[in-house]
Amino acid sequence: MPERIYNFSAGPSTLPEEVLAQAAKDIVNFNNKGMGLIEMSHRSKDFIAVVDECEANLRELMKIPANYKVLFLQGGASTQFAMIPMNLLGEGKTASYLNTGVWAKKAIKEAKLFGNVQVAYTSEDSTFNHVPKDTDYTVDPASEYLYFVTNNTIYGTQFPTMPKNEKMLIADMSSDILSREFDITPFGIVYAGAQKNMGPAGVTVVIIREDLLDRAPENLPTMFKYKTHADNGSMFNTPPCFSIYVVGLVLKWLKKLGGVAAMEKINREKAAILYNAIDATDFYRGHAQPGSRSQMNITFNLPTPELEAQFIKEATAKGMDGLKGHRSVGGCRASIYNAFPKAGVEALVGFMKEFEKKNS
Ligand SMILES: *Cc1c(COP(=O)(O)O)cnc(C)c1O
Repeated sequence: MPERIYNFSAGPSTLPEEVLAQAAKDIVNFNNKGMGLIEMSHRSKDFIAVVDECEANLRELMKIPANYKVLFLQGGASTQFAMIPMNLLGEGKTASYLNTGVWAKKAIKEAKLFGNVQVAYTSEDSTFNHVPKDTDYTVDPASEYLYFVTNNTIYGTQFPTMPKNEKMLIADMSSDILSREFDITPFGIVYAGAQKNMGPAGVTVVIIREDLLDRAPENLPTMFKYKTHADNGSMFNTPPCFSIYVVGLVLKWLKKLGGVAAMEKINREKAAILYNAIDATDFYRGHAQPGSRSQMNITFNLPTPELEAQFIKEATAKGMDGLKGHRSVGGCRASIYNAFPKAGVEALVGFMKEFEKKNS
């Protein structure tokens, strides 16, 4: 087997090696029970302990108050695009959205099926190279909530701080949950598909304020009501057991590392190394405007598409995988989520300098 490479993939993405090693053992024999974790009843004592510990650690790490429920759902982050307006909108009701990329746009499309949508801001004209400041938009006073995507995975933009608004906030944090500290109390819902920053694909973590559970219309199918999952501890039906378990391991790893504040510091250091390398030359050009730069996905271009292709090919040969930008923007993208090691960022910067010298 080759040594582990540096995996810059945007998602599913790199996980801590110790988490993978533990999961590999537990798949075969969990808690010395003579059966594997993925063979076990989701109602068994051992598995319920896994879910309870996972939730408790998430609450501790994110400082989630008692009046919020934590749900472990399926259907990916994309199902939330519809589930949110299904539960919170309805005929005649309005919601406001900030259109900062494809994931926001897809959420807008679904919301329009269930109510009125005010697109309060869009950065589409500039290939989504920035996110708005609070003063760049006005939210419809009639809106039920203000929806936004904290980190725009494809374009490498991120809200540097959470928007301040009178309205209840709802955020898709799929690609930066647990990467930095923030105050959850202005939020009604925060959710994230696990496969970028907290585990494998298959589970979506939804954190929802309790009072919102009763807003769903009567005729909404059972599985689409948040209340169903909240009332049943995410066990109304079989939950994505393995994914929840791995998220639990990642949370333990994060706690050991010092929690979200310690992680945030490391993330800022990692991103700064890369942005400094980009800013030091005209050979590399960042896609995101400086005030909107993501700490998680760093997007950049080279002078020509041919050089970009060569760069990605040579980097791959050197054990740096997944640097190709998303097909909708091209160029390169280095995804350096929580579990991505600083040494990998340094290796990439070393290669960037070498490549520039040879090709400029
Ligand atoms: C990847 C991604 C999604 C889509 O997640 P799925 O789990 O594939 O539905 C949604 N939002 C953001 C910000 C993402 O990065």
